[in-house]
Amino acid sequence: MNRYREFHRRSVEDPTSFWREQAQRIHWETPFTQVLDDSRLPFARWFVGGRTNLCYNALDRHLSERAEQAALIYVSTETGIERTYTYAQLHAEVNRMAAVMLSLGAKRGERVLIYMPMMAEALFAMLACARIGAIHSMVFGGFAAHSLAARIDDAQPVLIVAADAGSRAGKVIDYLPLLEEALALALHKPPQVLLVERHLTPPHALGAQLQHRVARYAAMREQQAGADVPCAWLESNEVSYVLYTSGTTGKPKGVQRDVGGYAVALASSIDYIFDGKPGDTMFTASDVGWVVGHSYIVYAPLLAGMTTVMYEGTPIRPDGGVWWRLVEQYKINLMFTAPTAIRVLKKQDPALLHQYDLSSLRTLFLAGEPLDEPTARWIQDALQKPVVDNYWQTETGWPMLAIQKNVEALPQKLGSPGVPVYGFNLSVRNELTGEPCAAGEKGVITLAAPLPPGAMQTVWRDDSRFISTYWSGFPAKLLYSSFDWGIQDENGYVTILGRTDDVINVAGHRLGTREIEESLSGHPAVAEVAVVGIHDALKGQVAIAFVVPREAQAAEQAEARRGLESELMKTVDSTLGTIARPARVFFVGVLPKTRSGKLLRRALQALAEGRDPGDLTTLEDPLALQQARAALTGA
Ligand code: AMP
Repeated sequence: MNRYREFHRRSVEDPTSFWREQAQRIHWETPFTQVLDDSRLPFARWFVGGRTNLCYNALDRHLSERAEQAALIYVSTETGIERTYTYAQLHAEVNRMAAVMLSLGAKRGERVLIYMPMMAEALFAMLACARIGAIHSMVFGGFAAHSLAARIDDAQPVLIVAADAGSRAGKVIDYLPLLEEALALALHKPPQVLLVERHLTPPHALGAQLQHRVARYAAMREQQAGADVPCAWLESNEVSYVLYTSGTTGKPKGVQRDVGGYAVALASSIDYIFDGKPGDTMFTASDVGWVVGHSYIVYAPLLAGMTTVMYEGTPIRPDGGVWWRLVEQYKINLMFTAPTAIRVLKKQDPALLHQYDLSSLRTLFLAGEPLDEPTARWIQDALQKPVVDNYWQTETGWPMLAIQKNVEALPQKLGSPGVPVYGFNLSVRNELTGEPCAAGEKGVITLAAPLPPGAMQTVWRDDSRFISTYWSGFPAKLLYSSFDWGIQDENGYVTILGRTDDVINVAGHRLGTREIEESLSGHPAVAEVAVVGIHDALKGQVAIAFVVPREAQAAEQAEARRGLESELMKTVDSTLGTIARPARVFFVGVLPKTRSGKLLRRALQALAEGRDPGDLTTLEDPLALQQARAALTGA
């Protein structure tokens, strides 16, 4: 372990010389004058004074050597489109998109909100923003009107780039009514909406909000053939993007990321952790709406001169062999997905795995949620390739726990995502005192300041929330809290034991139970509600809701209960999106609370998972748990 230990030690003890070397991996139009400004921690500034551009590093820089190499392979099993873009073609598309955006008023430092599913134009739009120095904010296509409106109000974009429709498992989702409603709800009214039409829905008239704002991409793109948009040379600490993520409160946080630090972090991690080499092909099956999509579908593979595969569809349509077909056809070397996808594939005919030539594949990476041992073992045996778990968050931008093969190929420990990644000064600490835990002792996973390049700079427009949320958990210590429990063994391997807050993880998607509660509370029949995440064999966790109806009789009859349950589910679908829909809604007369009025979510969770709810001496109404138990068993 010596090589790894020394590498990691140097990265945190001498970050200046360590990161100065790593910074050579990217092009700097103007060299930086200072590697790290740590004068205002926890706000760290990396590569101060250096000027660079993410789009230049992802595309232009490769043109002399790789113009004819594939940069993007786009595959949609939803629409049947399968298309390869060389670096030269992708460069041309991004320039056209950038020219269109400029003509619609997007500028350096202004926000562009992108509401698109997995289509090539979403990647063009991200890189186009990076090119002109506009700040992109991707909103996952599965989010509905309220979620979208909250993000519009917080990011205050000058432009929204949107698709007219998405498609999931063959079901088309019309985005236009969602956009229309979001624009009506939002207080901030972006002047322009650039619509990328897919023609998956029958043509229909635009609503009042969209009518005056819409510009159509197809026609505008036609006018921009041969567009050549210069790259904006941004100071390293200017903002590249804002990506919203869930927390304990109902209001999502805008995770803000820089330009130079992010480019350097990704360029180094794609080598040290992912073993990605120029010319390799990487298939990251995530979504551009999530951080994994930003880092390892879009930026990292392109920064490294690799080919990235972007996929719209499920892993089992038209059949459970579709991903393996892609590996064979496109000679994919590296794959990255979430454990849920593997659990889905595990239910398929194992023969599908052996029908294809998987010899190009070197490694499968998994992240986003705990990787259970049976799933890890199954896929490792089935593929006969290394499976590498890695642990990170939207906030960190890249893995903070992993085996870093190209630093030192340490052995995997099943059930653990590995050891702290270089740059991350990670320790497991007692949740009350902030003192480091002994090996084998449970505590909170923390990071000492400064966070490394590529990690979040702050919460968008809310420095005080950055400090109060992440840096205030431990008295008199400047430590970032991950809100995850963990245990570190004597060799440094960390095991993740779940969240310390009310965030849940459904199929690798992070959701705040508070957001779902707020959505349900909006229904007139709901007096009170508690949402908890419970274990699910396929998705890791699912949300379930306990609702106190305003009128007791509303849920007295089984049929009325079922009717109300489905109505409440629809409420969540239409406000937050189907990904946030609770798997079940249970009706109770009272919720378990302490005498001081604090909701005992953990007791509800324990009951629903069939565990002992623990010490309940502080319970205000002892009947509350009996009612919850009865509701769960249908008694
Ligand atoms: P997100 O910000 O959506 O990427 O979610 C981050 C959260 O997902 C973390 O705080 C963890 O709770 C969980 N998570 C991510 N990767 C892993 C992993 N490899 N093992 C266990 N939990 C993970």
